[in-house]
Amino acid sequence: MTMTRAVPFFRPDLTELEIEEAVDTLRSGWLTTGPKTRRFEQEFAEAVGARHAVAVNSCTAALHLAVEALGLRPGQGVLVPTLTFAASAEIVRYQGAVPILVDCDPITLNMDLADAEAKLTRVRAGEPVAGVCDVEPVGIIPVHVGGFMMPVARTHEFAARHSLWQVEDAAHAFPAAWRPAAGQPWQRCGEKTADVTCFSFYANKTMTTGEGGMSVTDDPATAARMRQMSLHGLSQDAWSRYTGADRLQWDYAIEAPGFKYNLTDMAAALGLHQLARADQMRRRRQAIAEEFFHRLAGIEEIELPPVSEDRLHSWHLFPLKLRLDQLSIDRAEFIQQLFQLGVRCSVHWRPLHLHPYYQNTFGWRPDDLPIASATWLRLVSLPLFSSMRQDEIDHVIDTVRGLCSRHRHAFAAISLPAQR
Ligand SMILES: *Cc1c(COP(=O)(O)O)cnc(C)c1O
Repeated sequence: MTMTRAVPFFRPDLTELEIEEAVDTLRSGWLTTGPKTRRFEQEFAEAVGARHAVAVNSCTAALHLAVEALGLRPGQGVLVPTLTFAASAEIVRYQGAVPILVDCDPITLNMDLADAEAKLTRVRAGEPVAGVCDVEPVGIIPVHVGGFMMPVARTHEFAARHSLWQVEDAAHAFPAAWRPAAGQPWQRCGEKTADVTCFSFYANKTMTTGEGGMSVTDDPATAARMRQMSLHGLSQDAWSRYTGADRLQWDYAIEAPGFKYNLTDMAAALGLHQLARADQMRRRRQAIAEEFFHRLAGIEEIELPPVSEDRLHSWHLFPLKLRLDQLSIDRAEFIQQLFQLGVRCSVHWRPLHLHPYYQNTFGWRPDDLPIASATWLRLVSLPLFSSMRQDEIDHVIDTVRGLCSRHRHAFAAISLPAQR
């Protein structure tokens, strides 16, 4: 198999519909937050089954607005998985509060609620966890890694038992759903799965507006606060000021020192059509994931990602776990060889407690979160996106198979003295 160009890690799936809508926005004369953003919010809220949706310019902004609206302040702590992207924890720092890092489940890579319980109990008892002490735990930020949802009922039970609010980092989880067991109804991510659920429309997420995000909630007061803070804390936004009444509403009041997080109509133009195609794109990723499962099955050197009949997986990521004891090369060399053979991959992620900021500020050490420390060394995310061509799928599969067989640990040779 010859590939003239490398298989990229991601390629956006854009059609003439998105392009025409963007052109229509340019011709309309209204580029910033306006009618298309409002329509995008309504249609997105409907798609996930939430009452309110606030469109913003990133998931990071959505997460920040959520914890601000829930009143997060200095002296407080929030349970955050260590295996996540920078954004999930930095927004806690924006409010002057402290992320209490939690280890991951070795199979799903999602937050381990048993470790969350252990860390929370210690902090509440006044005992330090790494360098974290003297904080009052008030919330939890579950992340649905790769689009495989946390067990929502267990997370809710945990949060309720410990009086914690919940903000979901659902950057990977649109569209995604879970159910407690076969025969039970599905619950969509964003449909009462947290106090606030935050989605990402970054360029390589499951649907994109280039940059963008959405906060959804059923609570009108939380929604109103997030909306106000997304635009400088003003009493009303520019669109309703200019078009809301037969009299020009020229005045406004600054009611809080807000942020500049609003989404533009240019971005919403893309979002409207990406949203309409989101299920179709998810089904395509699911079909590709199934092909990966089928054709990578039985390779001893790798573990495939978890699946469950009680998860509707968004398939944002396809993270392999290398079995390093079966391979004669390490993860870095595996990635380098994939690269040389024309397969671009990624790693999700170096855990937060292995970054200098969290080590230097809060004293986290590898042993504080041992599962994440060990597991991340084995992680490699393969390309998986809806616009992937069959020759690209074939090339990824053939390359992974070839690398595994070429670098298989030579157990047979070791047990054969004649070879020496
Ligand atoms: C991408 C990502 C974010 C941030 O999304 P932006 O829209 O780029 O701000 C947050 N959390 C996770 C888990 C992500 O993967």
